[in-house]
Amino acid sequence: MEIRFLGAHNCETASSRCAAILVDGTLALDCGGLTSGLTFEEQGRIKTVLLTHHHYDHIRDLPLLAMNLFLQEKSADVYATSDVLRAVASHLMDGELYPDFTGRPESAPTIRFNEIKPDTEAKIGDYRVMPVAVNHAIPATGYYLKAAYGRSLFYTGDTGPGLEACWPKIAPQLLIIELTAPERFTGTVPGHLTPTQLKQELVAFRRLKGYIPRVVTVHMNLLYEKEIAREASAISHEIGANIVLAKEGMRLRL
Ligand SMILES: [Zn+2]
Ligand SMILES: [Zn+2]
Repeated sequence: MEIRFLGAHNCETASSRCAAILVDGTLALDCGGLTSGLTFEEQGRIKTVLLTHHHYDHIRDLPLLAMNLFLQEKSADVYATSDVLRAVASHLMDGELYPDFTGRPESAPTIRFNEIKPDTEAKIGDYRVMPVAVNHAIPATGYYLKAAYGRSLFYTGDTGPGLEACWPKIAPQLLIIELTAPERFTGTVPGHLTPTQLKQELVAFRRLKGYIPRVVTVHMNLLYEKEIAREASAISHEIGANIVLAKEGMRLRL
């Protein structure tokens, strides 16, 4: 499994992009900073987009991806829960802001919306995909992704504490987890994680599963990144975990 971190932050600047991860060149996890990190041809190879929730920093490149696929006479399937699909269809891809690529071209639309349900595994291309509900300000799901060749990851999307409820359902080799703010913001950023909260979730995982997967964090607040990195490093040592902060352009092979 080849994983490319295209967007690893919660804000866009000249050096950071919003959430977007590309798996094996064909499957995108969230669509925040997707298109500006990929060539036209690379975008043309995307077959699947999994959306965790409909906050703008996770969906915003979907119309641009759709246009680029349309121009290349290609298409993609977008998977999300009904809440997310409804919000995207009514606010982002409503035919007002930009062409509605879910109906264009009429004979074979560029974008196909597919509803998925939490805790229900679906076969999508070469992967088995299970959405797992997480705690965020709006309905949100993480994705447990298992490749046919035996590799697996869990991507949380945006989440606050309470992942302990997800752990019985998954056993990934790689955990891609949000880590938005440093320690001193604990309690003031509901729906997101700080380092001690991450530690608690990892310890709970180990208690249940007997191991801690390799951990890559995303969705960091750029302003506090150094502080988050220091605190995450301390936690790595403390609990014996391998925690790395993602960067735009980082590649990882499982
Ligand atoms: Zn969010
Ligand atoms: Zn976000």
